[in-house]
Amino acid sequence: MFNARLYSRIRINALAQSKRFNATISKNAPLDASKLSIKTADVVKPLVANKDLVFGKTFTDHMLTAKWNEDKGWSSPEVTPYAKLELEPCAAVFHYGSECFEGMKAYKDKNGKIRLFRPDMNMARMNRSTARIALPQFDGDELIKCIAEYLKTEERWIPSERGYSLYLRPTMIGTQESLGVNAPSDALLFVIACPVGPYYKTGFAAVKLMATTEYVRAWPRGTGDAKIGGNYAPGLLPQRVAAKAGYQQNLWLFGEDHQLTEVGAMNLFTMIKNKQGELELITPPLDGSILPGVTRDSILSLAREWNEFKVVERKITMPELRDASKEGRVVEVFGAGTACIVSPVKTISYMGEDLNIPLDPNDSTSQAGPYTKRFSEAIMNIQYGEVEHPWSVVIN
Ligand SMILES: *Cc1c(COP(=O)(O)O)cnc(C)c1O
Repeated sequence: MFNARLYSRIRINALAQSKRFNATISKNAPLDASKLSIKTADVVKPLVANKDLVFGKTFTDHMLTAKWNEDKGWSSPEVTPYAKLELEPCAAVFHYGSECFEGMKAYKDKNGKIRLFRPDMNMARMNRSTARIALPQFDGDELIKCIAEYLKTEERWIPSERGYSLYLRPTMIGTQESLGVNAPSDALLFVIACPVGPYYKTGFAAVKLMATTEYVRAWPRGTGDAKIGGNYAPGLLPQRVAAKAGYQQNLWLFGEDHQLTEVGAMNLFTMIKNKQGELELITPPLDGSILPGVTRDSILSLAREWNEFKVVERKITMPELRDASKEGRVVEVFGAGTACIVSPVKTISYMGEDLNIPLDPNDSTSQAGPYTKRFSEAIMNIQYGEVEHPWSVVIN
């Protein structure tokens, strides 16, 4: 039995305490990890067995929060028991979609150390997202330090089996209590966490995509490059339309020429042999409509390091992909994102026609091509500290 009483205590770091007593009221206080206080739960929840984990359903015992006000700046961050938020019905987030988020994971390596994967990238992206919707900026290094303390509090929730991890959801919302349409004067930053398993429980499962010509996810100079809640709700109806027709995800297109952009909430990669017979890894460029994924960037870096095929960020259209498919030049197609790392694609429906995308040419039972698998393994090896790499940050 887990000893709840032993676990239930208030830990306030001594440095934080003395700092707080000495603090003069500073206007626009920065987010400061040394002011973090930790109040642990009296009763903690039972852990869920790895095999029973469902993505995004189980949350840990605590959350991390910090409040912001335009005059005062950031409050002292706090780790407190996971609980409901109390907000006025007029809060900005409920009316004008003042919300942005991140998705990152904490991993436990074979020595029991807790690791984050390129957390600086998530912090930088979150600050770009908040800037885009007029929410406040914060010092990303300070939030990483707070997250590190939070993770130590939640350590028992971080699975140690390969493929399993603790998914972190940093979020910021506008909490201004007014229906005025303007940049919020108040905001809440919070981080919640849920243990998650491998995206595909029984190995890879290749997906079928519907190339969506009726709806557009994002466009240059829009907000597609920001991880803001407002980008996702409009995708749910097209997702349902695709699902009803038997396709798991939308392949989002843009423009009259049907440029490929993203797959669901993942970046898109294609491996194609060009007309000269050279192998190319192609992904759409960051033109403002593409979310700059950490996984996308990692795949591009690894591929450039391997230096075995061309690596190009360029526009690619559905007619081009269809022609390549008909000429037998499509080698692999996959989505990329933190949740699954890579997601192999087996079919793309375009203008009423199904294009069949090859998986593994040497294994008809395989659900992923050799390059897709190789990217997945290389990234996982770094995430779990099997291979030492500066991308993997040990926090304890
Ligand atoms: C989060 C997200 C991605 C993937 O980003 P990662 O940092 O690799 O997890 C890709 N596209 C969209 C639309 C996203 O929201």
